[in-house]
Amino acid sequence: MTDDGAGTGTAWQLSEEQQLIRRTVRDFADQHVDPIAAEIDEEERFPQENVKRLADLGLMGMLVPEEYGGSGADAVSYAVTIEELSRSCASHGVIASVNNSLVAFPIHRWGTDRQREEFLPNLCNGGLGAYALSEPGAGSDPAGMKSTAERDGDSYVINGQKNWITNGSHADTFIYFAKTDPDERHRGITAFLLDDDMEGFEKSQPEDKMGIRAAHSVSLMLDDVEVPEWRILGEEGQGFKIAMQVLNGGRVGIGAQAVGIAQACLDDSVEYADQREQFGQTIGDFQAIQHKIADMAMKTESARNLVYKAAAAKDAGEDVARIASIAKLNASEAAMDNAVEAVQIHGGNGYSTDYDVERYMRDAKITEIYEGTSEIQRTVIARETMGR
Ligand SMILES: Cc1cc2nc3c(=O)[nH]c(=O)nc-3n(C[C@H](O)[C@H](O)[C@H](O)COP(=O)(O)OP(=O)(O)OC[C@H]3O[C@@H](n4cnc5c(N)ncnc54)[C@H](O)[C@@H]3O)c2cc1C
Repeated sequence: MTDDGAGTGTAWQLSEEQQLIRRTVRDFADQHVDPIAAEIDEEERFPQENVKRLADLGLMGMLVPEEYGGSGADAVSYAVTIEELSRSCASHGVIASVNNSLVAFPIHRWGTDRQREEFLPNLCNGGLGAYALSEPGAGSDPAGMKSTAERDGDSYVINGQKNWITNGSHADTFIYFAKTDPDERHRGITAFLLDDDMEGFEKSQPEDKMGIRAAHSVSLMLDDVEVPEWRILGEEGQGFKIAMQVLNGGRVGIGAQAVGIAQACLDDSVEYADQREQFGQTIGDFQAIQHKIADMAMKTESARNLVYKAAAAKDAGEDVARIASIAKLNASEAAMDNAVEAVQIHGGNGYSTDYDVERYMRDAKITEIYEGTSEIQRTVIARETMGR
């Protein structure tokens, strides 16, 4: 292990401040996340107590300037944070990732002064945000959404349904995408800032999921919800552009989540291979196991470096569409590959809930699905690379 705690070698040199953030998050995760990770997964319990603790450490509004209650950190520090949380518990990783990069960041980036003042201090200080784009009939193709927002004087009336909304059970602030012009596809979409206590706004019970079970996903049902015009984020008709730019940044966070899972798989496998004995020696003495560990280390390193590179590009103000998709695709496949090998190295024990690798395998899978499936990432990368 190097000083930064991730066994990264020297390929990527974090600044002293970034290393301090890594140590702070690791200490937090050791104290407050590790002890409950298996239990909240089994019970599907949302770790509300840790949301406030994370906020107190400045980790829920990392990309927001201090004047609005955030910590004004850079995207690399943010990636390091999500990685370290996810190394202990991927549910914690996505809860923080959604709040930071899918909700607080766009409100600061596209919000008016009024919107920034109204929503950001809450989101940075223990309130929770959710990002409502997907619908039952519109996942990979969000421009096919059916939610509508019809103008009525100085307000809009929103009707529609969203599904799979992470943090939805506990969130009080929602970015909700709806069509202000239902005859258009991309150009007809507008982003709105909603509160969960608005009349006509309902949430379902959380889905019963394979993995990230402590990060609740709910459906939203909106029935004639009246939303004043000042709650439009950006401009009318700009919603799709905002949604895609937000996801470009969000993919850095999910890539970081995947790196954390990949690292956890490696850590647990090294430990197990050193202890488990068969044929009178540890299984770590077998070259077959050593080579699995080598492949896992290689995939984790390359995933981490690409995710940090994408984060650094974001910090430099570059267009990250291509590199964020590459980083997310590579890291999610590394997490899944490492999880499969970690279970294999653990043998029968890997198939038991007594060992964390079983949870890592269920958690790893989601990184290949949300914020754009692997097929969609390949489509984006090909488009950006081939200029089509
Ligand atoms: C646990 C969880 C949390 C989520 N959180 C959120 C959230 O907070 N907010 C939110 O808005 N959404 C959220 N989602 C939704 C998520 O982003 C979508 O599930 C995802 O984008 C895929 O959409 P879909 O499920 O409708 O699959 P579909 O789009 O129906 O895709 C099904 C299959 O077809 C493939 N496919 C589709 N189109 C193409 C194409 N053009 N080329 C090649 N293959 C294609 C896909 O890759 C996939 O393999 C979440 C989902 C889950 C499971």
